[in-house]
Amino acid sequence: MNGTKKVESSLAAKLMEIGFSCTRCGDCCRAGSGDDNLVMVTPREIRAISGFCGLQAADIAEPYPESVELPGGRSVTFGRVLRRRPCGDCRFFSGSSCLAYPVRPSICRTYPFMLDGDELRVFPCRGLGNPLAEEEALCIARDLVRRSAEEEEEAGRIRAILPGVPSRPGRFLVDSEGVSER
Ligand code: SF4
Repeated sequence: MNGTKKVESSLAAKLMEIGFSCTRCGDCCRAGSGDDNLVMVTPREIRAISGFCGLQAADIAEPYPESVELPGGRSVTFGRVLRRRPCGDCRFFSGSSCLAYPVRPSICRTYPFMLDGDELRVFPCRGLGNPLAEEEALCIARDLVRRSAEEEEEAGRIRAILPGVPSRPGRFLVDSEGVSER
């Protein structure tokens, strides 16, 4: 068994111990469920949703709501989040289902779990504690490991792009593919 497979398999064992089965309550997609339903989304994920739903990128995601002030009158926002309706629900949440389900972002795919380095973090969810089959646990474990690697790669690209923020005053958005003016 190689290193990655070992990590996935031990993660899957932990997940089975915790137990999880989605109850389709939609709490993680709606506003006001006690947890933040802000979903960070990468340029690649936006393209996947765009291809699946036939929407323009601007209708799918918007800049992250907070920004960082840099010297020289520059305000920089890092990355984008899925758009939400005025009520705060995700714009893809409909009834009890997700209109972008097959191409939903990795944050949605792995909720209520997240890898923080080697540590497994667990967020509030009604589905926790339900029986989880080994095959399903392995799928979630693989998604978690993939998500963690992708997030690291995204962060590395953003760090490399950051020095390219223009020196003139303005509002800029930095993602893993470049800098744009807002
Ligand atoms: S993209 Fe789908 S799964 Fe993710 S928050 Fe929106 S409705 Fe929920």
